[in-house]
Amino acid sequence: MSRHQLGIDYAKQKDHEDVLSSYRNQFHIPKGKNGNELIYFCGNSLGLQPKSTKSYINQELTDWANLGVEGHTDAKNPWLPYHEFLTEATAKLVGAKPIEVVTMNSLTANLHFMMASFYRPTKERYKIVIESDAFPSDKYAMESQLRHHGFNDTEGLILWKPRDGEDLLRYEDLETILELQGNEIALVMIGGVNYYTGQFFNLKLISELGHKFGCMVGFDCAHGAGNVNLDLHDSGADFAVWCTYKYLNAGPGSLSGCFVHERHAYNKSLNRFTGWWSHNKDTRFNMRHEFDCIPGAEGWQLSNPPILSMAAIKASLDIFNSVGLNVLIDKSKALTGYLEFLLKQLGEHTIKIITPEDPDSRGCQLSIQVLNANKTLHDKLTKVGVVTDWREPDVIRCAPVPLYNSFTDVYWMVKKMKAILNE
Ligand SMILES: *Cc1c(COP(=O)(O)O)cnc(C)c1O
Repeated sequence: MSRHQLGIDYAKQKDHEDVLSSYRNQFHIPKGKNGNELIYFCGNSLGLQPKSTKSYINQELTDWANLGVEGHTDAKNPWLPYHEFLTEATAKLVGAKPIEVVTMNSLTANLHFMMASFYRPTKERYKIVIESDAFPSDKYAMESQLRHHGFNDTEGLILWKPRDGEDLLRYEDLETILELQGNEIALVMIGGVNYYTGQFFNLKLISELGHKFGCMVGFDCAHGAGNVNLDLHDSGADFAVWCTYKYLNAGPGSLSGCFVHERHAYNKSLNRFTGWWSHNKDTRFNMRHEFDCIPGAEGWQLSNPPILSMAAIKASLDIFNSVGLNVLIDKSKALTGYLEFLLKQLGEHTIKIITPEDPDSRGCQLSIQVLNANKTLHDKLTKVGVVTDWREPDVIRCAPVPLYNSFTDVYWMVKKMKAILNE
């Protein structure tokens, strides 16, 4: 798709035509030591701060100062039902029904809580399939679950690997794994968008494959939420988790989102770990009641949540809601396509893009493999004000985020990279 052109004039023209260009002003863009704005391509790791976040948090600080405990019911945004204010926008963002989503805990914690319900191994069927280059936290979580249930974590973990000489995963190979060992596999747990390669998987296809062989299917969508169209409900997945500090711009360590498919919403016999926040809201404060689980994803909550963090999520979701995911994805495809076009002009002698070329099989991130694993390219980019991240062994992850990055950002990033490569 080389509809793009070289030269700064083209980049400026594209920014001029960009219907989302004004959104950049709604974010704090970090500056370098020289006072110039950095070219920030690290929204896949930590999204930038919306300028509105402070006032959303201040509202809760003010209500806490003025109302104390009464804020639970009398705050402008009462704290008792505060998580409900996030439900509709979250559901829209991940393509779910409101009953299927909740914001709670942190990401890896949610992975474990979901596995308490959806990883119920037996002696015959206990194995877990993950991608071979899954995010380390996910791999550690899976291994510890296997050990927790008394299984060997090497034998129990099946890796879905790229073929020799390839970087991306093929669905045929997952199918082969399932055909050979399907009756021993309890759970298929895949990163919806792989953090390393940027490959966006067909969640529906994977769910159907897993279910065909009698497995539960879950996704870690940390790199998907706010980046791609996840369509979680239609995917048929049993559960999904994600964080809100990457593409969702809710601040370092902010809370996690969680999806439980509607088909499990009223199944009160499903094993789970519970707390008072999973209990029926009408009788929660009677304190002595027998446990009565809330239907849907809310029934997996444990604790009353941190409102200050939720306020930051609300600030961000209000922005996403005003833009609409489809508009965002249109720009994302154009922006990332432009980055790809310019990078390809640099030739393949020193760098190679390993992210899928198909715009529907990726989000905004391009993973640039550096030949000979030469990290100095990344370090030099940092020195000239381009923020990307280096992932061992040999990849620079580069994510132009459609909400706040521009075509001129992309132009200057590649121009600087070219200068470094020509040194
Ligand atoms: C970012 C990320 C995490 C981080 O987990 P936390 O529990 O939020 O620290 C885990 N898994 C994946 C796939 C990620 O991308």
